[in-house]
Amino acid sequence: MDDSIHDQFAHIPERISGLVDLAYNLWWSWNPEARILFKQLNHQAWKASVHNPIRMLREIPVEFLNRAAEDPAYCHRYDIVMRRFRKYMSATGTWFSEEYAGRPPLTVAYFSAEYGLHHSLPIYAGGLGFLAGDHLKEASDLGLPMVAVGFLYSQGYLHQQINPDGWQEDVTEPLDRDAAPVTRVLDSDGEDLVVRVPHVDPPIYVAVRKVQVGRIPLYLLDTDIPCNDPHNRGISSRLYAGDQDQRLRQEIVLGIGGRKVLHALGIEYAAVHLNEGHPAFALLERIRERVERGMEFEEALEEVRATSIFTTHTPVPAGHDVFPVDLIDRYFAPYYTALGIDRMRFLQLGVHPESPASGFNMTAFALRASAHHNGVSRANKVVACDMWKCLWPGPPEATVPIDYVTNGVHVPTWLNTRMKGLYDRYIGPASPDWLSEHDDPVIWELIDEIPDTELWQLHLWLKAKLLNRIRERERIKWAAHRGALNPAAEGAFLNPSILTIGFARRFSTYKRAHLIFEDLERLKRILNNPWQPVQIIFAGKAHPSDNEGKGVLQQIYRYTQDPGFGGRVAFIEDYNDQVAQYLVHGVDVWLNNPLPPMEASGTSGMKASLNGVPNLSILDGWWIEGYNGRNGWAFGSETASCDGRNAVDAAAIYNLLEKEVVPLYYDRSIDDVPHGWVKVMKESIKSNGPRFSSRRMVKEYVARYYPSLLKGAGPEHARRPAAAKPRTPAWKLQAQEKAEEWNE
Ligand SMILES: *Cc1c(COP(=O)(O)O)cnc(C)c1O
Repeated sequence: MDDSIHDQFAHIPERISGLVDLAYNLWWSWNPEARILFKQLNHQAWKASVHNPIRMLREIPVEFLNRAAEDPAYCHRYDIVMRRFRKYMSATGTWFSEEYAGRPPLTVAYFSAEYGLHHSLPIYAGGLGFLAGDHLKEASDLGLPMVAVGFLYSQGYLHQQINPDGWQEDVTEPLDRDAAPVTRVLDSDGEDLVVRVPHVDPPIYVAVRKVQVGRIPLYLLDTDIPCNDPHNRGISSRLYAGDQDQRLRQEIVLGIGGRKVLHALGIEYAAVHLNEGHPAFALLERIRERVERGMEFEEALEEVRATSIFTTHTPVPAGHDVFPVDLIDRYFAPYYTALGIDRMRFLQLGVHPESPASGFNMTAFALRASAHHNGVSRANKVVACDMWKCLWPGPPEATVPIDYVTNGVHVPTWLNTRMKGLYDRYIGPASPDWLSEHDDPVIWELIDEIPDTELWQLHLWLKAKLLNRIRERERIKWAAHRGALNPAAEGAFLNPSILTIGFARRFSTYKRAHLIFEDLERLKRILNNPWQPVQIIFAGKAHPSDNEGKGVLQQIYRYTQDPGFGGRVAFIEDYNDQVAQYLVHGVDVWLNNPLPPMEASGTSGMKASLNGVPNLSILDGWWIEGYNGRNGWAFGSETASCDGRNAVDAAAIYNLLEKEVVPLYYDRSIDDVPHGWVKVMKESIKSNGPRFSSRRMVKEYVARYYPSLLKGAGPEHARRPAAAKPRTPAWKLQAQEKAEEWNE
C-alpha cells in the first residue's frame, strides 16, 4: 500500500498497526471477526463512524487505541485475525487454484459503471452495482484471477431527504475521500498516475484510484484532477450523467480510458467481462490495439469477440444507451482511421437493425463485439433474445445466442452474523467448514435441525434491532429539528409484534411501489385488522431526474401520514446497503411486485430469503426460478402487461395476505411460536440459500464462460516485469504545464 497512508495513521500503536491494512481491504466487511476488532476499540466510535473503519481510525481518541494495544486479550484476537487475513491474501489453496490446477492463471478484466461494495464507497445506484460488487467479493473468495475497472464518482450517489410534503430532495455530498477505502495509484515519481484517454481530442486525463476487494484490485478512474479543464473534470462527478454528450464522454473514459489504465499499470489479462453496455468501448480499444500491431480489422474483431463476455440486464429498449451519430463523429473521427475502417463500417457496429437511423446503440455494439452473452435470469434471457433477435436474422426457430446465468448474492456479506452463528451451531457439527461449501444444497438440508423456537427467537431479535434502528434515526432527525412533525412516516409507531412487510428498492416506475395502495379501503382493513394487524416499511430512492418516481414516492409518503392507515405504513429515508441489511434481516415478509417482465433478476429478495425472510413476490425475475410452492408466496402471470393489470395484481396480493400470509403468521402454539410460519422460513433458507448465492453464480461463469474465454488466449500485452512502474510520459509533463495555466 501507498506509504503515505501509513504516515496518516502514525498515531496507531505499532502493535496493532495492521488495522490500517485491514481497514483498506474490504475483506473486513464480510468477515465478522475483523469487524469485531474495530467495534471493540470502542462501540460508540464504531457507530459514530457509520461502521466505517477508516473514518473511525482517523477520529477515535488515541487512548482507546493505546488501551487496545496494551490489552492482551485484544492483541490475541488481533493476531488471529491478522494471520487469517494474511493467509487469505496469499491466495494459496483456493477453489480456483485447485479446480483449474495447471492452467496458466490468466486474468479476466471486469468492467462496470457502478459497484455496490459498502456504503463508505457510494459508487452505486442499485442492483446492477450490487451484482458487480458481489461478483468481485466472490471472485476473491474463490481465488479467481480478476481485475476490475470502474469510476470514482466525486459526488457519490445522491442522499435522499424527504421534505414535509413528501417530495424527495436530492442532496449531493462530495465524496469524503479521506474516509473512503480508496488509495491513490502513483507513478515512478511518486505522483498520481495520470493516463491520457487515447485518440480523444481535446484530451481527457484520468487519475487512478484503487480499492482492494479481498484479493481483487478494483481500479477507479477519476477525472477530477487539475490537468483537466472544468468540463472534463466533471466527467466522473456523478453516476450516469444526464446529458448525452457527458454520458458519451463517461463511457469513452470508462471503456477506452479503463483499458488504457490497465495497460499503463502493466496488468495483463486475457478476457473481458462487461457488466451491461456502458463500458463496451473497452472492446473497441482492444480491437484498435490489435490493428495497431498490424492485424486486419475483421480479424482483430474476431479475436476480441472470442475473448469477451457481455452480461445484459435491461429488458426495455429505452434503457439502452444510444448516441446520435453527430456525437459519435465528434469523438470518434480519429478512431475510424486508427481502426483501419471507414466511418460507415464503424457506425454499422452500433446499428440497431430495427431503427438504423437512431444512432450508435451500445448494447448492439457490445453484442456484436463479444461472442458470449448472457441475461441475469431465465426469464431475462427470453426477453433479451426477443429484443435482440434482429441482430441474428434467420428462421424464427433459430436460436439467438444469448444464454443466462441467474444472479446470486454474496452470502458472507448478506447473511446476518447472528444468523450465521445459528447455522454454524446446527450445520457445523456435520460440516464445520460449511460456509466455504455453501453452494452445496445438501448442506442446507440441515437447516431443519434448528429448533423452531431458536430460529424464531433470533428472528424476533433481528426485528427488534431493525425497529430500534429506525427509532434511533428518527430521534436523530427530531433532535436536529428535521421532519419532527411526521412520526408515523418515520416509523415511530411500528410495533415489533405485528406482521411486518418490507418493500425497498429503487423507485423506478416499473417496480410499482404503490401497487399495494390500489384499493385503499381493502388495504386499510388489512392493516387495521384489530386481531391480526399488518404494517409495511418502505424505502428507496428515485433517480434525481425521475419525477414520475418521485411522484410515486410522494404519494406513499402522504399515505404514511393518513391516520386511516393507523400509523402502520412507514417510509425510511436514504436507502442504502446498510438500511438494506437491517430490512432484509428484520422484516417478516419481503414484497416485490414489478410489472413483468421488467425485473431482470432482483436480488434483494435473495438477501431476505437467506436470512429466513420469505418472499411474497410476483412471478418475475429470479422468483420464477426460486419459488417452489413452499418457500414463500407467488402471484401474477409472467406475460406482459394489459389494461387493468394493476388491479388484478393488487387483488392477488390482498387475497394472499388475507387468506394465507396473515393467518399463518398469527397461528401460534402454546409456546407462542408460529410453527407453520417457521416452516416457510426454513424452506426459504434451504431452497434459496445455495442456489441464489454468488458462489453458484461465479462458478457458473467460470464453468461456462471463463475457461473457454481464456483457452488459448495469449496475454493481452507482452510480459513486463510486474514491479516496473510506468515512467512519466512527455504528454503528462505537457498536461502539468496546462494544469498550471488552468490554475492561474
Ligand atoms: C440488493 C440491493 C439492491 C437491489 O435490489 P433489487 O431487489 O434488485 O431491486 C438495491 N439497493 C440496495 C441498497 C441493495 O442492497
